[in-house]
Amino acid sequence: MRIDRMEVYYVVFPLIYPWRTAYGADPDVHTILVRLQSGNKSGWGETTPLYAPCYSPESSVGVYHTIREYFAPQIVGEDFPTARHIQERLKHFKGNYFSKAGIENAWWLLKAHMEEKPLHQLLGGTRKAVESGTAHGIKENLDMLMGAIQKGIDDGYKRTKLKFAKGWGLEMLKPVRANFPRHTFHIDCNSSFTLDDLPMFKEVDKLGLAMIEQPLPYDDLIEHAKLQAQMQTPICLDESIKSVRDMRLAVELKSCRYVNIKPPRVGGLQASVDIHNLAKENGIPAWVGGMLESSLGKGVNVELATLDNFVYPNDIGPSSRGIKEDITEPKLEFPGKEKIFKPSTVPGIPFLPSPAKLEKFTRHKFVLEK
Ligand SMILES: [Mg+2]
Repeated sequence: MRIDRMEVYYVVFPLIYPWRTAYGADPDVHTILVRLQSGNKSGWGETTPLYAPCYSPESSVGVYHTIREYFAPQIVGEDFPTARHIQERLKHFKGNYFSKAGIENAWWLLKAHMEEKPLHQLLGGTRKAVESGTAHGIKENLDMLMGAIQKGIDDGYKRTKLKFAKGWGLEMLKPVRANFPRHTFHIDCNSSFTLDDLPMFKEVDKLGLAMIEQPLPYDDLIEHAKLQAQMQTPICLDESIKSVRDMRLAVELKSCRYVNIKPPRVGGLQASVDIHNLAKENGIPAWVGGMLESSLGKGVNVELATLDNFVYPNDIGPSSRGIKEDITEPKLEFPGKEKIFKPSTVPGIPFLPSPAKLEKFTRHKFVLEK
């Protein structure tokens, strides 16, 4: 598959409310879209590490420039029969997983259009339905959080994720558990604690959570293993798993009992499938996480979540749950009352950027053609 042309868009679109976590607040989505063209076929990819390098060392601005300066000249005019050929071509560039994912995910949708198959078929997914959980960022006060949790439960979400940070920790979690004694909760710490917080995690351990997501630093596997050995509650790794190698080490060290897989964080869909398979072989259940993405990235995540070891409700929300004005047509929404999405029935995915929205929200764009 020769790549004749690459277009890259730096797009900013608004959220309904700012998304608050342990590392700050995002009032809008800064995302990078990549369009690859081969002959008369094309495929779109989306990758967003968030505006600032707070979730990982990558930022939206950095991803845009890394693709333009370093990656695009390696890809355009070259032939890539498989995604592994793209990985191989970009291998000498260290890290920069989000930047690599933007290109590789566009390759997958290009491939899907060439073969006229839904994306999940290329990935090997078999599930007919993909369940979604809900997630709440840090709110202004506990009353607002309790109301939001109750609404989520009333709406039919079977599990709720709570962002958990210093100042919004046990003082939030204990009353939540008291109010909702039987509901399935997990917390996401976004790397904001250390092993010195073990006494606090021992308190969390008594609250019957489904898992604790990424309690310790974003680049750690060893201290997570030490913490996991002292906790009943499973640890789920997010930020710490950036590659298949990280997953292999996490298995060996026993750093986690769950893994959250996000295609942009791990360099794309091929690594996502490989990490999924490695986790499955080692009895570690997985679920698909999400960044602040448009329906393009969300739609790709739904396709990935059809693989059979994604057994916990995923972090894939409908567009209307947080996005004020999405950039695709159509947008990802639940097809019925249940909190489940159905995989694509068209080649690739149905959610492609609308030209009018691209016109409205693109801040920077470049094109390379050979
Ligand atoms: Mg997380």
